[in-house]
Amino acid sequence: MVEVKTFYVNPLRECCYVIYSTTGNDCVVVDPGCVSEREFKRVIDFIETSKLGLRAILLTHGHFDHVIGVPFFKDVEVYLNSKDKDLYSQAKGQCDYYRIEVECDYSKGNLENELKELAEVDTLSFGELNCKVLHTPGHSRGSVCFYFKEDEILISGDTLFQGSVGRTDLQGGNYESLMGSLEKSIVTLPKSVKVYPGHGYPTTIGTELLINPFLKEL
Ligand SMILES: [Zn+2]
Repeated sequence: MVEVKTFYVNPLRECCYVIYSTTGNDCVVVDPGCVSEREFKRVIDFIETSKLGLRAILLTHGHFDHVIGVPFFKDVEVYLNSKDKDLYSQAKGQCDYYRIEVECDYSKGNLENELKELAEVDTLSFGELNCKVLHTPGHSRGSVCFYFKEDEILISGDTLFQGSVGRTDLQGGNYESLMGSLEKSIVTLPKSVKVYPGHGYPTTIGTELLINPFLKEL
C-alpha cells in the first residue's frame, strides 16, 4: 500500500508530497518547494518520526516553486526530465526576481551533478514503491506525472489541478501540447484514480471529467 502525505510550502502554496509504503519503509519526496528551514523540517520530521528511508526526490517539472528546496536534502538522487533543466537552473534567480527568500544553501550550485534523467524513463522502482512516469509536456517541456497504478494515485504536478490545468504562458509552456497530454495520458486513466496536483486540493479523474472545463471536448 502507498500513502501520500501533503505539505503546502512556499508563498505559492506548492504541494510537496511524501509518498511512502505502509508495508515497508521506502519513501520518495515529490517537488520539495520548501524555502525555509521550518518548511523543510516539517517534511524531514515526518520522514524521521515515521521511520521512513528517503530513496529519491522526484520532480514533476523544473519550475522554481517545485524545486527550490532540493538543496535542503543531502545525498539523495534527484529525478528530472532534462528538457526542464534550464528552468531548474534558473530556480534561485526566479526566487530572487519574485523576492522569495530561500534559506537553503545554493553556494554549491543546484546539485546538478546528482540529477537523474527522466526523459526516456517509463517506470521507476524504489523498494516497494513502483510508479509509471507519464510524459505530459505542455505546462513545461519536461513535465511528467507519476502514476502509482496499483494504488490508483496520480501525482499530476501542474499538468492537472482540481477544476483547472497549469498555465501554458510561462517559459516552455505550450497549450496544444498540454491538451494533447491530457487527451493521451490523463483522461484515459480510470475514473477512480485519485489525483494529487501541484497546487490546491486532491481530486479524482472521475470528478475532473465532470467539472474540469479543460477536459471537455477532448
Ligand atoms: Zn509549474
